[in-house]
Amino acid sequence: MNQDFDIIVVGGGAAGFFTAINIVEKNPKLKVAILERGAEVLQKVRISGGGRCNVTHACFEPNELVKFYPRGEKELRGPFHQFCSGDTIEWFEKHGVELKIEDDGRMFPVSNSSQTIIDCFLEATTKLGIKVLTGQSVQSIFRPEIAGESVWKIETQSENYITEKLVLATGSNPKVWDMLQTYGHAVVNPVPSLFTFNIKDPRIKELPGVAALATVKVKDSKLESTGPLLITHWGMSGPAVLKLSAWGARILHDKNYQFTIYVNWLNDVDANDAEIKLKELKQEHAKKAVSKKSPFDFPNRLWESLVLASGIEIETKWADLSKVQLQNLANQLTNGSFQVNGKSTFKEEFVTAGGIDLKEINFKTMESKLHNNLYFAGEIVNIDAITGGFNFQNAWTSGFIVANAI
Ligand SMILES: Cc1cc2nc3c(=O)[nH]c(=O)nc-3n(C[C@H](O)[C@H](O)[C@H](O)COP(=O)(O)OP(=O)(O)OC[C@H]3O[C@@H](n4cnc5c(N)ncnc54)[C@H](O)[C@@H]3O)c2cc1C
Repeated sequence: MNQDFDIIVVGGGAAGFFTAINIVEKNPKLKVAILERGAEVLQKVRISGGGRCNVTHACFEPNELVKFYPRGEKELRGPFHQFCSGDTIEWFEKHGVELKIEDDGRMFPVSNSSQTIIDCFLEATTKLGIKVLTGQSVQSIFRPEIAGESVWKIETQSENYITEKLVLATGSNPKVWDMLQTYGHAVVNPVPSLFTFNIKDPRIKELPGVAALATVKVKDSKLESTGPLLITHWGMSGPAVLKLSAWGARILHDKNYQFTIYVNWLNDVDANDAEIKLKELKQEHAKKAVSKKSPFDFPNRLWESLVLASGIEIETKWADLSKVQLQNLANQLTNGSFQVNGKSTFKEEFVTAGGIDLKEINFKTMESKLHNNLYFAGEIVNIDAITGGFNFQNAWTSGFIVANAI
């Protein structure tokens, strides 16, 4: 037997819940259901932000906010003018959830628990009479005509559903993308984003936990980023690396995650200026051991490792440095090359780059340009961001726009 709804939202994640709740809040007469394949809803919200849920980012200007999206920068400009991070804060406040800003701009519930967000969504769906149907994995969708009207028919493993309007908020699910391709939608090949670099190198082997501000460039590409770099047991992580992994998601995938990076531990200082600075230090500290203390704004352990990598013995005094050793050190400081062999998952947040081709979506409504009454919200589309709460902001914004349009 078919179950009838005005609107079916497929996917019980962040985008699906936000869409369904906003639809019924705007029009309580509508009969709405969320179909979720898993036994539990909002699983990613639960584990997000290390269990704290980084809900959004304290960047309130749409034209600035879009800059955090390697895919979607152009398309999100309009949507963020409809629903931006400030609206997210207000929305959650109205629903009893207060958010706080951390020093780096990330925003979390004051409770520091993702459960607060889950409770908020579950309470809202109950209050609004939205049916949340779990264990319903959508297998296929059809577009039959009933009484002269095109409707959507959805088949799960156990039920059939009929709805006038269909919202797909299934995240990065290749099966759903395959299904949509049979409906003529183009899907941009999914590749991972937000990962860390695997590097085995004697210079960093003994330094897990050491962090410094650095500029990282990928050889033979325009990829470059500046920010905190964290040395890990496996290689390198931290915002500088994660940003590169996001902006370079496709390029690095094409390189099969085998590439060379150049690290400048002095950021914008080049090798020539570094050499001049080192010559000054040679005069100033002539009698002191070079390796003893970092003259730059990064940890001593890293300095000592770079000094040794420049062919300078641990006890060598500044006065005894040869020209070649000075040049080597300047090079290690500003242009040290490291070979990346593979990637590792970043625990806090990882996303998929790829999804429904943005050209096929009307960003005023998030409706498909190919099929009327078919809408998309969240990570199913080819939009993703760097870490910091931006990926959820995309889920909230797209969900809000779908609800508004419907
Ligand atoms: C570990 C981790 C931590 C993260 N932390 C953060 C963070 O703190 N801040 C941030 O901004 N972003 C974070 N992200 C990214 C963020 O979680 C995603 O961008 C966001 O969840 C996307 O929401 P969505 O609703 O589009 O997709 P999802 O959350 O993936 O939800 C999709 C839902 O659809 C269901 N589904 C899929 N296929 C079907 C089907 N055929 N039938 C029925 N149901 C189906 C899935 O089971 C799932 O419940 C994190 C990601 C990870 C992996």
